[in-house]
Amino acid sequence: MSSELNQPVPRPGILDIAAYVPGKEHAPGVARVFKLSSNETPMGPSPRAIEAFRQGAGHLELYPDGQAMALREAIAEKYGLNLSNILCGNGSDELLGLLCHVYLSPGDEAVITEHGFLVYKIQIMGAGATPVVAKEKDCTVDVDAVLAAVTPKTKIVFIANPGNPTGTYVAASEIRRLHAGLPKHVLLVLDAAYAEYVRRNDYEAGIELVSSARNVVMTRTFSKVYGLAALRIGWIYAPAAIIDAMNRVRGPFNLNAPAIAAGAAAIRDQDFVDKAVEHNLLWIDKLTHALTDLGLKVTPSVANFVLMHFPDVDGKRAADADAFLTSRGYILRAVKGYGFANSLRMTIGSEEANRGVIETLGEFMGRKA
Ligand SMILES: *Cc1c(COP(=O)(O)O)cnc(C)c1O
Repeated sequence: MSSELNQPVPRPGILDIAAYVPGKEHAPGVARVFKLSSNETPMGPSPRAIEAFRQGAGHLELYPDGQAMALREAIAEKYGLNLSNILCGNGSDELLGLLCHVYLSPGDEAVITEHGFLVYKIQIMGAGATPVVAKEKDCTVDVDAVLAAVTPKTKIVFIANPGNPTGTYVAASEIRRLHAGLPKHVLLVLDAAYAEYVRRNDYEAGIELVSSARNVVMTRTFSKVYGLAALRIGWIYAPAAIIDAMNRVRGPFNLNAPAIAAGAAAIRDQDFVDKAVEHNLLWIDKLTHALTDLGLKVTPSVANFVLMHFPDVDGKRAADADAFLTSRGYILRAVKGYGFANSLRMTIGSEEANRGVIETLGEFMGRKA
């Protein structure tokens, strides 16, 4: 490297980061498009959230409440949590980034899993630290592999539960075993972005474990079941010392006012969430069966999407299916970047969208759906 630099130079490692690529939105030349690539809900947001957002439009000259009090109160009330253990973020993505910013230094390591959410890796590298990948087993987090990946340099372990793009989950007892095996200074991050969708007796989003430990946090989002992805609202439930550290570096007004109002209204509309979850459960089941009947392998999902695996046969691979579906207006997510070269992830859509995908994939596979 020349000693005279002719332009600003990013910190070491920044230019090694591959920027996040969001789900496709467009199908060129197709009139009607069903976007099933970003795990957005087909139900939209609660009408109460929309109304709260509209009311916020009358006061755009005012700074928002930097404590997001109305939203934190609504969250605390719903889950019976202490207000001081809740911090809101501009999407949970911001909170994941803040955790890396606060707890990682160059030379540190953070453990992620084989098919884990790509944002973790980006934020770990952004902090100058090194991501260490633990293998998964049957598209599911393997607690033993995660524990084996921990070294004296490890500072954070990231677990998405349920996982994205797999849709699988780790039982509460296994999460507790993982926590028990970690040194007390290692932070365990439980990313429960899809928790509301899970209907399993042995699942916990993480509230109980956070409440009883000093090195566990749980992140949640309003982007998925609440249908407020556009507003960017996430929250974290964490021990006071962790909230305190994050509060020192976050943007002072990291949530905008209409988002605070809409989020608070949304979390109080449980009927709306129940309907969305009911629709999702019905279609997870129907899609899993229908796609399996077409000869595809489907990873069992507890979230609002399914991961389907294609045959390793010319003309029948995931890339071929992706092109076939896109040309007919059905946009799914290619998941190569997540270690699935021959698979697609499909978000559960409206009845019309779901039926359309089944029919179109039936055509693609040369079978009747
Ligand atoms: C969608 C998603 C999030 C949520 O991100 P937001 O920034 O809150 O929109 C977090 N983690 C995982 C695994 C996700 O799939």
